[in-house]
Amino acid sequence: MSEDKPVASPDGNEPFKISFDEAVSFFQAVCDDALCSACGTAEWEIPTIKGDDNICALKKSGLSVNGRSILNLEIECLNCGLLRAHRVARIREWIDSPKSVEIDDE
Ligand SMILES: [Zn+2]
Repeated sequence: MSEDKPVASPDGNEPFKISFDEAVSFFQAVCDDALCSACGTAEWEIPTIKGDDNICALKKSGLSVNGRSILNLEIECLNCGLLRAHRVARIREWIDSPKSVEIDDE
């Protein structure tokens, strides 16, 4: 379990918030059957904030764009502990987009 607090952007922009269910939907739809690149296991832990296990714990990447922190959602392989980081902006974009469109994986 993570001890991280939710992260708000410092410039007053609306902070990203990803619910646990939204994250699960994203991973199931976009990263279907994603296997750990280190051990091949397909079981991941999605970290949630302290006191509310329906809200994902997000981490600052240390980078920013236009003064806005870039956030990651780091999920952890339950077998070997490998951390996999996803850009929160991409997850939010997917959640907010119509689900009939294809996902652009760059
Ligand atoms: Zn693993």
